[in-house]
Amino acid sequence: MIRLALKPGREESVLRRHPWIFSGAIASESGDGSDGRAEVVDAAARPLARGAYSPHSQIVARLWTFDGRTPDLALFRERFAAARRLRKDVLPAETSGFRAVNSEGDRCAGVLVDVFGEVAVMELLTEGTERWRVDLELAARETFTPARLIVRESGSDRDRGVRRRSLLPLPPGEGVDYAPFLENGLRFFADVSSGQKTGFYLDQRDNRSRLRSLANSRSVLDLFSYSGAFSVAALAGGARRAVDVDSSDVALALAREHRRANGFPVDDRDFVRADVFEDLRRRAESREAWDVVICDPPAFAKKRGDLSRAARGYQDVNRLAMSLVAPGGWLLTCSCSGLLSADLFGKIVFSASLEAGAEFAIVARGGAGADHPVSLDCPEGEYLKGLWLRRAG
Ligand code: SAH
Repeated sequence: MIRLALKPGREESVLRRHPWIFSGAIASESGDGSDGRAEVVDAAARPLARGAYSPHSQIVARLWTFDGRTPDLALFRERFAAARRLRKDVLPAETSGFRAVNSEGDRCAGVLVDVFGEVAVMELLTEGTERWRVDLELAARETFTPARLIVRESGSDRDRGVRRRSLLPLPPGEGVDYAPFLENGLRFFADVSSGQKTGFYLDQRDNRSRLRSLANSRSVLDLFSYSGAFSVAALAGGARRAVDVDSSDVALALAREHRRANGFPVDDRDFVRADVFEDLRRRAESREAWDVVICDPPAFAKKRGDLSRAARGYQDVNRLAMSLVAPGGWLLTCSCSGLLSADLFGKIVFSASLEAGAEFAIVARGGAGADHPVSLDCPEGEYLKGLWLRRAG
């Protein structure tokens, strides 16, 4: 375990239990961090916290304990068991796909576990938690008892760049591998091998459920659809038609499978492989009108420097999407960019509505479901923002 001594004053955030230590806060280091463990001490050498050590990341340590405990197998077991108990309290019926461990939100900074039926996917987000892989794997197997556990060492984008430079292994690009599971009784497949994220966007469960409840006999345009899960929920709610738009062939192929698996017809015209911005411009020119538009783009801002360009992107896509919503229709607009605050997102959406010349009201807000807890100590964990907007008329 390496000892990281903080610069004077930099202990403040640790005393408030914020779990991130930035490299700029470190005055000196001593010892060996090859086991992925770090102890953080203040300028007077008083111990403050222990956690996972990622020497090549801007966040050099992610803290797990503030009481002197060393992160080890016993602690991983306890934290995973607590995470499992929470899910028992909050998951809806007929739902076997869920986020089982949510990093800081479950006091397991740098570890995600998604369960898809019999398969669990554990994602180790940092170099430090990668070093703990053997014990984390064991604790995950014991706690979640999956038939199969897949471990991905994907890291953040910044970590990934570093990993390339330091020649640590990159996640393999194996063939396609689907894990079936249920969400509110609907059948889905997570692409657990080459899929995006851990293979399925579990965080949108509540929004899909709301869509299902208001979709009856309506037309639905699902932008950035990935594997078309919103459309399946809409069809289950009686939607007249649902169209998926995504730039990925693999995602759209899975979207077709999802419709088939749930007993809905598959019509080629309902799967559009296109850049959403171009597709929206075409639709706007031909003055299309949809009862419900879903807009759930990828994170446009991944680092601070991207923010102003990202804001423009969100405003453009929202302006175009708004122009396609029929009077009295709905727009669910989302941003999963943690760097973009809910406040700024709201302002962007407001500006978009002015540009679109269309009046909307916020009817509901919809973030990630209850299996994505956010620690009060680490509000950065709240990344998904969704606004259910209804157009006047
Ligand atoms: N709404 C989805 C998740 C969306 S993830 C769900 O609930 O499952 C973002 C998706 O946007 C990815 O599938 C990616 O392939 C797609 N994408 C990214 N940029 C795009 C673009 N410019 N045009 C079309 N699709 C895009």
